[in-house]
Amino acid sequence: MTKWVYTFGDGAAEGRAGDRDLLGGKGANLAEMCRLGLPVPPGFTITTEACNAYYSAARSYPEALAGQVGEALTHLEQLTGRRLGDPSRLLLVSVRSGARASMPGMMDTVLNLGLNDATVEALATESGDARFAYDSYRRFIQMYSDVVLGVDHEVFEEILEDEKANRGAELDTELTAEDWKAIIGLYKAKVEEESGAPFPQDPEQQLWGAIGAVFSSWMNARAITYRRLHDIPEDWGTAVNVQAMVFGNMGETSATGVAFTRNPSTGERALYGEFLVNAQGEDVVAGIRTPQNITEVARIDAGSDKPSLEKIMPEAFASFVAISQKLEKHYRDMQDLEFTIERGKLWMLQARSGKRTAKAALRIAVDMASEGLISQEEAVARIDPGSLDQLLHPTIDPKAKRDVIAVGLPASPGAATGEIAFSSHEAEDMRAIGKRVILVRIETSPEDIHGMHAAEGILTTRGGMTSHAAVVARGMGKPCVSGAGTLRVDYRAGTLTVMGRTFRKGDVITVDGGTGQVLNGAVPMQQPELSGDFASVMKWADGIRRMKVRTNAETPADARTARSFGAEGIGLCRTEHMFFEGERIIAMREMILSDTEAGRRAALAKLLPMQRSDFVELFEIMAGLPVTIRLLDPPLHEFLPKSDEEIDEVATVMNLSPSALRRRTEALHEFNPMLGHRGCRLAVSYPEIAEMQARAIFEAAVEAGRATGRPVVPEVMVPLVGLKKELDFIKARIDAVAADVMKEKGETIGYLTGTMIELPRAAVRAHVIAETAEFFSFGTNDLTQTTFGISRDDASVFLETYRQKGIIEQDPFVTLDKEGVGEFVRMAAQKGRATRPDIKLGICGEHGGDPASIHFCEDVGLDYVSCSPFRVPIARLAAAQAAIRKAG
Ligand code: PEP
Ligand code: MG
Repeated sequence: MTKWVYTFGDGAAEGRAGDRDLLGGKGANLAEMCRLGLPVPPGFTITTEACNAYYSAARSYPEALAGQVGEALTHLEQLTGRRLGDPSRLLLVSVRSGARASMPGMMDTVLNLGLNDATVEALATESGDARFAYDSYRRFIQMYSDVVLGVDHEVFEEILEDEKANRGAELDTELTAEDWKAIIGLYKAKVEEESGAPFPQDPEQQLWGAIGAVFSSWMNARAITYRRLHDIPEDWGTAVNVQAMVFGNMGETSATGVAFTRNPSTGERALYGEFLVNAQGEDVVAGIRTPQNITEVARIDAGSDKPSLEKIMPEAFASFVAISQKLEKHYRDMQDLEFTIERGKLWMLQARSGKRTAKAALRIAVDMASEGLISQEEAVARIDPGSLDQLLHPTIDPKAKRDVIAVGLPASPGAATGEIAFSSHEAEDMRAIGKRVILVRIETSPEDIHGMHAAEGILTTRGGMTSHAAVVARGMGKPCVSGAGTLRVDYRAGTLTVMGRTFRKGDVITVDGGTGQVLNGAVPMQQPELSGDFASVMKWADGIRRMKVRTNAETPADARTARSFGAEGIGLCRTEHMFFEGERIIAMREMILSDTEAGRRAALAKLLPMQRSDFVELFEIMAGLPVTIRLLDPPLHEFLPKSDEEIDEVATVMNLSPSALRRRTEALHEFNPMLGHRGCRLAVSYPEIAEMQARAIFEAAVEAGRATGRPVVPEVMVPLVGLKKELDFIKARIDAVAADVMKEKGETIGYLTGTMIELPRAAVRAHVIAETAEFFSFGTNDLTQTTFGISRDDASVFLETYRQKGIIEQDPFVTLDKEGVGEFVRMAAQKGRATRPDIKLGICGEHGGDPASIHFCEDVGLDYVSCSPFRVPIARLAAAQAAIRKAG
């Protein structure tokens, strides 16, 4: 028979910490604390499996549950010497939810269960405090009615406020037992009126009502949203913990509180917590009264004149300190503890791993490793790589005053202050005269790259988390708030308006890409701290990981940032981004729009020196580290002039009429450009483009090698290859240019020619392509697009619907789809190695910076991952964790 119920109490428990999946976090840790001999009010846990069974059977309980709960209750009654509903030996219980992962405040709780018109008298007699007893009863009625009977707690608050007003009382504490009695009468009448039945007096009926309500709360809207946001599967279910009540509100020698064994925001090794005298846990959560500090040190630090627990209850404090140390040692992690002191006696109500900021996580891990509590490997394994993002950007000083004018999506972390610019040109011009700029657009497009580069931060009024602005800003590591829909941008008037306030070009605003807030004016910032604990963890991670970490970068600024974050080379230099700036776009347009090879070569000749100097700079920054340069990839239409002004500009340079030029741009129109004339197809049609780029690469390699004294071994990468012959054709040109340059310079240049694997056909034919390719770089952006057959630029709308409907769990453009796209990666890696055992394998799609995808890359045995500069530390850590997991 399935065991649905596990008991704990008095130094023993049927469960333990390892039973988290079955008993939920709270239940498993209560059991563990009992086993450790700590003072825990006894009780029992109904399993998460029972919750799942309840849902599978259309919200009815498994048959054996009633019997097992009955037995556990008897056990609890024996341990406490009390009985539910028995006025002579009154037992009261709490009924709480507790899932595998903590879901703070998302599900329901009922306290003081077992009180009724008769037992409340018993509680009054036993406690010698009638006021306490009636207050407890009214709290119970209020909570139970809200959670189980669906009577909104507001109605009770209203009654309470009225009654206080009638009595001229301001605080609950001014009410007497008689007042509470009267209020209870009103509450019960209200319950009967609202729910159609009297408030249940039978404690057993109360208990089952509460159990059902906790199970049901797994499916309330709050919990569903929380699960979606935190990727918690629905089939985990919640456990129900039924536990003997202890009271923190039995007068001045009672208290309740919460504490962390180390400071959760700084990580400092010091007990950190708060408590309230004469209160129940819910009072602490409600935040109506100002809590007091637990330790004297913290009290003095906080400048509080309210006495600490250390001062007023020294004995309970001493046992709490001892227990908190014991628990931290036992769990080998910072603990988040809940406790209650009932008339001087300490009870532990909860222990769990404490949530902490990224900064605290690093400090705690490093400290615990040096205290010998955990190994360096465990320290590395414990840091959430994604959380490092918080540390790499300037952030708003938490103490700063915020004048929030709008809230959009937190699209790219960090905060930035600057003057408003409404176009990329404006942004560049302002930047050129030394101003710091926030680029404010309705939305951005690829043409805004230069403006985004010039800006400190980006704000858009439209677009989601995967909008162009969001993706590009994250890539650049620039703070971005997208989709701030309450803002109105009027380009013509040059205004940004919101709720009667108007901002103009040059007005100073701040964007907080971590929260999505847009703030008026400049706000004090905190600079990122990359030394200390961060550096220690990174160093340990580097000692553990097998895969190298490179960066995707094409600007010197990005390359430098990436180096400072520890990048070990460039895995992808997207050369097209180099053609958007100033003069270059004109020469580029000239090249694209020429009808003849000679015309194209003339335009390319203008681009060559610019391209070469770009590469020299990158090679110098990378000082001998590998640099992969990709030949031109995007559909040409991305470069085409659009406005009349732009067409006129190019027409003048080319000596053509604007109308002739317009006809040429129309001829270049493609219905499906991402599957069109792009990638290596451009180099097949116009080999002179590839030749110019190859020349720029090799000449730059010679120049940079001479300047730095470290030979540059460029890796020339051909995009969007599907056929070996495409690569053969282009490689022949590359080799010819290399031979020419070597002859001209009188120097040998080591270089590799390889390809991106970003089409299913390339993956399937990888063994053949590897005959020519000396390396593969998995372009998982396109490979995802082409494997699924969904457009990477348009998919976010319906992918979100897919997520909501449970058809996909994660956006495959963010986290690699292992079963599908990943299978192509795995297959191509194997096939590539079969042909060429020393073939270099890397990934340069967005997934190269995603921790879950990095784990997959380790499994497949790639040599390196490449990601945007600000993800480099994340990738270093994730690669180390992947290596640890693979080894373990
Ligand atoms: C890719 O397709 O994964 C890739 C890195 O190339 P891009 O994003 O430039 O198409
Ligand atoms: Mg691609």
